[in-house]
Amino acid sequence: MEDLTYKRTNANNVADSAEREAINAYAEGYKAYLDAGKTERETVSETVAMVEAEGYRPYELGAPIHPGDKLYYNNRGKSLFLLRAGTASLAENGVRILVAHVDSPRLDLKQVPLYESDNIAYLKTHYYGGIKKYQWLTIPLALHGVIVKKDGTVVDVCIGEDENDPVFYITDLLPHLSQEIMPKSVREAFPAENLNIIVGGVPVEGEEKDGVKKNVLRYLNEAYGISEEDFLSAEIEAVPAYKAKDVGFDRAFIASYGHDDRVCAYPEVTATLQTETDQTVLTILADKEEIGSEGNSGMQCIIIQDLLDCIAASYGVNPALLRAKSKCLSADVTAAFDPNYKSAFEYMNATLAGHGVAMTKFTGSGGKSGSNDASAEYIGYLRGVFARDNVVWQTGELGRVDLGGGGTVAKFLAHYNIDTVDVGVPVLSMHAPYELIAKVDVYQAHKAFAAFIK
Ligand code: MN
Ligand code: MN
Repeated sequence: MEDLTYKRTNANNVADSAEREAINAYAEGYKAYLDAGKTERETVSETVAMVEAEGYRPYELGAPIHPGDKLYYNNRGKSLFLLRAGTASLAENGVRILVAHVDSPRLDLKQVPLYESDNIAYLKTHYYGGIKKYQWLTIPLALHGVIVKKDGTVVDVCIGEDENDPVFYITDLLPHLSQEIMPKSVREAFPAENLNIIVGGVPVEGEEKDGVKKNVLRYLNEAYGISEEDFLSAEIEAVPAYKAKDVGFDRAFIASYGHDDRVCAYPEVTATLQTETDQTVLTILADKEEIGSEGNSGMQCIIIQDLLDCIAASYGVNPALLRAKSKCLSADVTAAFDPNYKSAFEYMNATLAGHGVAMTKFTGSGGKSGSNDASAEYIGYLRGVFARDNVVWQTGELGRVDLGGGGTVAKFLAHYNIDTVDVGVPVLSMHAPYELIAKVDVYQAHKAFAAFIK
C-alpha cells in the first residue's frame, strides 16, 4: 500500500557526501558573516561590501531602473534593500521579495550612562527586544556602535572583539548570599536597572570623588576624542563578545549571538547573489523587528512602498497591479522543539532542528492574534516551488497554544496586498546571548530562498 502519511524529514539523512561538503562549506561562510556583523549597522555594512563585490551599486530614490540592474538602497546604515531588476513581466509576476531582519536583542547604553559607585565605573543600559535578563550576567560583553558629535562627526566604536581587547561585565550575586533572591520570580529577581556594565576600576591619581569615572572619561577622550556629553547622541550596543562556534563532536550545530535573524539574512543574500533568474528580486535586511518594526528603519516604514513604486514607474506597470502580483517570504526564525522543555511545545506542529527550513503559516498569540496567517493557496504554491528543487522543509508553530507567542514582519508586507508567509530557520535558545541552529537548516534556507526567486 502507498504510504499516505506525512512525516518530517531529517535533512542530514537525505544529504549525500557532496551535499554534506556543501553544507559544511556554507556554514563557514555563515560563521564569518556572524562574526563580522553583531549589530544592524555592522551587518548592513558587511552586506554592502559583499554585494558591491558582485557589481551592485547604490540606488537613488526616483532614479530609473533598467532590466539587468543590480542595485542597493542603504537606509541610514541600518536597513538595506537589494534590487535585482529582471526581464520577466512585472504585470504577470510582480516582484519576488525576501525580507529578514538584522537587529537582535541586546543591551543599549542609556543616553547618560556613565557613573561611579564604590570605586567601580559602570555604564547604565536599557535592554532592547525580549530577553531573559539573567542570561546577560557574568558573560563577556563587547561594545559596538556609533557616537555622533555635535559637528556631525561619526565615531565608530567596537571594543571587546579582538583577542587583545578588554571585555565588559555585569555581576551576579553569589549563591551563598542568594537566599532572599532564590524564591523570587525571574522577573523580580533580575531587575532591568541592575544591568549595569563594569567599565573601569582605577581612579585618576589624586582624585577622591569620581576618580574612576574621570579615568574612564580620560581614556574615552584619548581613544575617541569624546566627552561625557557625546553619549547623548550615541547608539552603543552591548552584545556578547563570543565568536560563532561549531557545537557537537560531529559539528552539527553552530552557536552564536544573533542567529535571530542573521540565519535568515545570510541565506537571503547568498540566494540573491548566486541564483540565476529572470525575476525581479527585492531582498530586504530590516531593522527594529525586535521592537515591533517601528521607526524609519523598520518594516512599518513606507520606504518599501516607495521602492516598489520606483520599480513600477521604471517598468511602466501599475503599482497596485505590481503589488498584487508580488510574493514575499518573510524570513524569520522560529522556535525549534527543545527536548528539555517538551511541555512548551506541541510536538506534531513543532519544528525540529536539523529537519530543514520551517514554514510558519501563522505567528501571533492566543487565537492567532496579531498574525499574518498566510493562505492555503499561497502555501500550496510554495510546496510546489520547494518540491521542484528538493528543499527539505517542515511546518511549525512557535509553541504550545496560549503559552506565549511572537510576531514577525510578515503582516507589514501583507498590508501591501502581497502574498506573504514566514519561512525561516528553527533556533534553540532563541534570544539568548548564545543561540543554537543546525548547519543543515541554514543551508536548506538558502535552497528555499533560491527556489523562490527562480
Ligand atoms: Mn526574528
Ligand atoms: Mn527575535
